[in-house]
Amino acid sequence: RHERISVLGLGAMGRALASALLEAGREVMVWNRTPGKAGDLVARGAREASSVAEAIGAGGLTVVCLLDDASVRETLAPAAPKLAGATLVNLTSGSVRQARELTTWLDEHGARLLAGGIMAVPPTIGTEGAFILYSGARDLFDRAAPVLAPLGRPHWVGEDPGFAALYDMAALSGMYGMSAGADHALTLVQAEGGDVEAFKREVLQPWMEQMLPFMVPDVGVHEAVPDEFNPAMQATGLENILAASGEAGAPTELGGHLRASLWRMRSAIR
Ligand code: NDP
Repeated sequence: RHERISVLGLGAMGRALASALLEAGREVMVWNRTPGKAGDLVARGAREASSVAEAIGAGGLTVVCLLDDASVRETLAPAAPKLAGATLVNLTSGSVRQARELTTWLDEHGARLLAGGIMAVPPTIGTEGAFILYSGARDLFDRAAPVLAPLGRPHWVGEDPGFAALYDMAALSGMYGMSAGADHALTLVQAEGGDVEAFKREVLQPWMEQMLPFMVPDVGVHEAVPDEFNPAMQATGLENILAASGEAGAPTELGGHLRASLWRMRSAIR
């Protein structure tokens, strides 16, 4: 078991990760490109590395949580000669291909990668409900999971290192779809002079809560659709939303996308 952990990146998320690991009694070393962000963590027992190579060489896992794939590459490149034997856990959001390519690059330098996707926000790290997607070699996951568990429930999604990113981006698509829909709803009510706050509290929130289980059906929508979800009726009903948006002078782009997706679903089951 790797009880020692280094954390590269002390942005909002990196700080939350380091904090949860300290809280769980892990021996934590931290590094950030811009110095001066480790203050509180150091006061709580973290050690600050003076270089990336020092953090990676400290033994144990190295958790990487930077802005994007480019910043990860930029950060790791100078430490490449020191990577042999290291195990990295990349919790930086990125694409499927980026995760696969980083795995290959690390492999060429004698290091292993567990790719991750954080299904939490900084304040929910380490709280109930937070979970982290991991993909890569199963033995790596089995060894790392108990050490990383304080961040959120570890959930392995396959050997392909790109799958954590794949599921992460797919889940975010679902989330942004819901939030774009809610945003459109508020825009529409506001455009017609409705009471946005009351609508949000008394109508939109209870409605979305009631519908949430139906929005993620148990069956793949492209294979079969539950009886009560009739895409032909939905596609027709959507015309009403588009009409209401047009009348109110509210944007109609979202409705257009939804119409296209409902018609795709309808033709898929014909
Ligand atoms: P922040 O913007 O708060 O922090 C970004 C971090 O990346 C900083 O430590 C910054 O260092 C570092 N960085 C940026 N560019 C470079 C570079 N070229 N070289 C080295 N370091 C660099 O972002 P977050 O901490 O919120 O997010 C980090 C990752 O976590 C992202 O991939 C994000 O998608 C993911 N994530 C974030 C969530 C959130 O709600 N915040 C939720 C789920 C995932 P410096 O201080 O020097 O600028």
